This record gives sequence, structure tokens and C-alpha cells, in this order.
Amino acid sequence: MTKYRFNTNCVQGTYNPKSGEPRVLPITQSTTFSYDDPDYVADLFDLKVGGSFYTRLGNPTTDAFEGKMNLLEGGVGALALSSGQSASLFAILNICKAGDHVISSSSIYGGTYNLFNVSLRKLGIDFTFVDPDADKDTILASAKPNTKVIFGETIANPGMSILDFDKFSFIAKQLDIPLIVDNTLATPYLCRPFEHGANIIIHSTSKYTDGHATSLGGILIDGGNFNWNNGKFPDLVEPDPSYHGLEYVKTFGTAAYIVKARVHLLRDYGCTPSPFNAFMFHLGLETLHLRMERHSENALKLAEFLQSHPCVDWVKYPGLKSDPYFPLAQKYMPKGASGILSFGIKGGASAGKELVKHLDLVRLVVHLGDLRTSILHPASTTHRQLSEKQQIESGILPEMIRVSVGIEDIDDIIEDFDKALHAAAK
Ligand SMILES: *Cc1c(COP(=O)(O)O)cnc(C)c1O
Repeated sequence: MTKYRFNTNCVQGTYNPKSGEPRVLPITQSTTFSYDDPDYVADLFDLKVGGSFYTRLGNPTTDAFEGKMNLLEGGVGALALSSGQSASLFAILNICKAGDHVISSSSIYGGTYNLFNVSLRKLGIDFTFVDPDADKDTILASAKPNTKVIFGETIANPGMSILDFDKFSFIAKQLDIPLIVDNTLATPYLCRPFEHGANIIIHSTSKYTDGHATSLGGILIDGGNFNWNNGKFPDLVEPDPSYHGLEYVKTFGTAAYIVKARVHLLRDYGCTPSPFNAFMFHLGLETLHLRMERHSENALKLAEFLQSHPCVDWVKYPGLKSDPYFPLAQKYMPKGASGILSFGIKGGASAGKELVKHLDLVRLVVHLGDLRTSILHPASTTHRQLSEKQQIESGILPEMIRVSVGIEDIDDIIEDFDKALHAAAK
């Protein structure tokens, strides 16, 4: 625990230079580290001492980013990875193998859905996708004796549903399995899932963590609040033959999960971020609190504007009082509902295409969560690999436009939309 408050931790983090060292986190663009004493290097390999020995497994710049993100989420350890996809992959593979089963919310990022439903199924891990708004007994009924994880997104991308943490963590406790939450869209500024019963958090740091759309990355954070020694997770308890008999729970206690993810999965799969990208994420976090405040404020104003616009059929934004997720948003993210909203333009998919052509300030990009306001038509882009049935299950309608509201002057954003909506509706 730190003595400082959240906003101070965003700015200062865990990087604490000694006298004469750079005030700003240096980029250690080196694969290798030089040592005098072979016994010390042996201790590094045996994990008896901390330190970097090869950048695939750790690097001082990446360490600082992991330390700050861990501090902001309130975990016991973090592991930075090369993309959000690799964070989702590691989150599951660290505790599931062929023959295991996972319950996942069906309202999740399209890339995560494909990873689970296609790629991990091919490795023999079974998934059941559940409506996150179903009652707890319905979700519990999808559990099997081999269920090892329950997974959901704090704010679903792009369905915009809010995870009912109380319900999901209750189910996780009933089944004695960890709750893994993708907190990408909320960020720890708006919601801290460990305080609501989550056990593992993942982020695509390509989004709000970076905040400027410069770098691809992901991170895995361990809440240290799950008892792995319950008979369901032998790989965390029994000796690891690939690491000369290391027993993770016995040796690392509450940090067993995150240590295993690094020394086992990262060692073998190698989804390592570049130190330069870790530097960019660390820099991005310095303004996370200011950005998320403004993203949320601008998104609410744009949502209210669109709601009263004659060319708009519907608006989905959990910060709107009329939104079905407003009560959950108020409960779990009282500081704001983030910068993502979606709306249905009158005239359907074809009017949506026209809208893109008439916007000047707001650009069409396949991304969200950076400073610049952008839009996307999910049905024809991010979710095009899904069937129409799967799209609708993930909350994607054909006329739906997703907006990532930036931190420009809100009046300029509103004027751009107003002009383009009238032109597109003609
Ligand atoms: C973008 C995104 C991902 C995947 O992250 P990448 O960094 O693009 O690999 C995962 N989850 C959510 C919620 C996302 O928005």
C-alpha cells in the first residue's frame, strides 16, 4: 500500500530515482544485463533475488510500468505483455489446459471472443458464453466440474454493458474459481475491480493506458486474493518440472499466479513488450486521471446531445440516466462512465457510411481510447468475422456507430456530429 492518493500515483508511480539518476524513467533498450558474479546470476535464475537478466523475462523500464499499473489497480504483481490479446491468452492459459472449461460473458471484445471460441477451443479448452444480465442461477447452471474461470469486461466493448460485479464475484465464490475481468475501458481511475471481488485483471494498454494511440500492449495484474490451493489448480501447487520443481504457491504465496505467468508462460511463449512501448505506457499513465475525467465528461455531453438529435434513433451510454446500465455504472464507477458510447443513426448501415464521409474532425479508425475523437462501424469492421447471430449476441446492431469521445473541445465535437448527421440524413 502506498501513502499517496490515486492521482499522485498516476503521476509519480513507483519509479523512485536515487541521487544523480534521471528524474524521468529511462528507456533501457537493452536485451542483456552485465554481471560480475556468476553466483548472483544463478540466484537470479532461481528467483532468489529480483533483477533483470534477459528482456524477454524482465526489463527495468517494463518493471516501472508494471509497478505503476499494479499500484493503480491495487494488486500484488503485474506482468506487461505485447498486446491485449496476449494478456487475455495468458490470463486463461496460466490456469487452464486441455480438458478445462471457462464461463465467459458473451458481451466481450470481438478479438477476445474469437480467441476463446476458436483458438483456445482448438487447444482443448471449452467455453460457455452466458448473457451477463442473466440471473445468477442461470449462470451457475452453466458450470461444470472442470470449470476453472469466470470472465467478463467491466464495460463491454462495444456492447456497453456494465459488469454486475456482485453477481459475478458471488458466482465465482460459489464455484471456488477466480473472476478474471478485462478493465480496459474503465481503467483503474473509474473502476478498481479488485475492490469488487475480481481476482485477476487484464488490460489492453493500447487503449486508455497509452492514451495517445502510439503503442500496442497488454498487462495482467494479480489481486493476490484467490486461494489456488483448493484442488482445482495443481499446476500452481505441485512442482513445475519445467522449472526444476518450483512450487509456486509454496514459494510465492499470494503472488503465485503472476510469478508463474512470467517465469513459465512468458519464458515459453515470449509475448514480451518492447521497453520503448513500456516507456510510452508509463508516460501515458501520468495523465490517466485527467484524461479519464475529461473523456467521461465529454462523452456524457455528446450522449445527451445525440439523444435529442432528430437524426438519431437511440444512444447507448451507461452515464445517461435513461440507460439500463446507469444504476450499475453509478455503483461501480461513480466518477464517470468512460469515453465510449454508441448510437443508431436513422437510415441504418447506409446512413452510417454517409456519416463517416461528412465528419471532418472525427475520423474513422479501428481503435478506441485515445485523445482524438473517433468513430467505428463495428458490424463491418471489428466484428465482421462473427456471424450476424454472434454479432447480435455480442450487442452489435447493423446501424450501430461506436464513438470514442476524445478530449478536444466538446463544442467542436458536437458541431462536427451535428453537421455530418444532417448531411447524412438527407
Ligand atoms: C482492444 C481490446 C483488446 C485487445 O487488445 P490489443 O491490444 O488490441 O491486442 C482486449 N480487450 C478489450 C476490451 C479491448 O478493447
